[in-house]
Amino acid sequence: MIEFKDVNKTYPNGVTALKNINLTIDQGEFVAIIGLSGAGKSTLIRCINRMHDINEGTLMVNGVDVGKLRGKQVRSFRRKIGMIFQSFNLVTRTSVINNVLISTVPDLAWWRKGLGLFPQEKKVDALEALDKVGILDKAYNRVDQLSGGQQQRVALARTIAQHPDIILADEPVASLDPVTAKVVMDDFKKINKETNMSILINIHHVELALEYADRVIGIRQGEIVYDGKSEEVSQEV
Ligand code: ADP
Ligand code: ADP
Repeated sequence: MIEFKDVNKTYPNGVTALKNINLTIDQGEFVAIIGLSGAGKSTLIRCINRMHDINEGTLMVNGVDVGKLRGKQVRSFRRKIGMIFQSFNLVTRTSVINNVLISTVPDLAWWRKGLGLFPQEKKVDALEALDKVGILDKAYNRVDQLSGGQQQRVALARTIAQHPDIILADEPVASLDPVTAKVVMDDFKKINKETNMSILINIHHVELALEYADRVIGIRQGEIVYDGKSEEVSQEV
């Protein structure tokens, strides 16, 4: 469902971040991408939802040739792909539930019309998503009253409420303490098993990658240096 074929990516400054990437990821897989800082993990993930353009090769996502999308097509394509960042990217001065509701609306015109207009079923959906990640009791708290781990779970709930096929997570636990990082990884694992969404996580903690992901892909200087089931990869790393 995600297929990289001979993909190269060079930034305008001449840095080649991805070299000859060939990779297939099936629906429902839970994949960790590991590698040192600067290896190309973030670039790899961000090409999938067209945050970055590739220069050569083809990248197919759910039958769509990502490089060929134009204008509005990019936006509707991205609605089926959830994105989670290291820094949570929430609207901190409003409630948890409002943050989740934002993901359920087609565009910002809805948001500007006022939150009171969210249909009841969207609210139910948002509350269910919060329940799935164990923070239903925080629904009406302001985001800036929550801990880092709780905020990342809000970001995950926001993504779930979007009902994507794929969740991309760029270092989602890098700013959390080790205990909280595991709580958040447990949530990712649970969501993957319950919903069959594909999950791709960039993570520089090798131990967490091996513990939680089913498949681990290692990148070094823009190239894939290993790719296999966690049990097998743990022999090599
Ligand atoms: P990682 O996520 O593994 O830390 P990145 O994908 O962020 O790696 O970076 C891969 C390489 O591309 C690095 O050399 C980085 O400096 C470079 N790079 C990343 N983003 C940009 C950008 N927007 N412009 C130029 N170079 C970039
Ligand atoms: P995040 O913490 O949200 O993953 P990063 O700190 O990795 O963000 O990168 C922030 C932005 O800077 C990204 O858009 C990335 O593409 C860009 N960037 C990263 N490395 C470089 C670089 N060497 N030159 C230019 N831009 C870069």
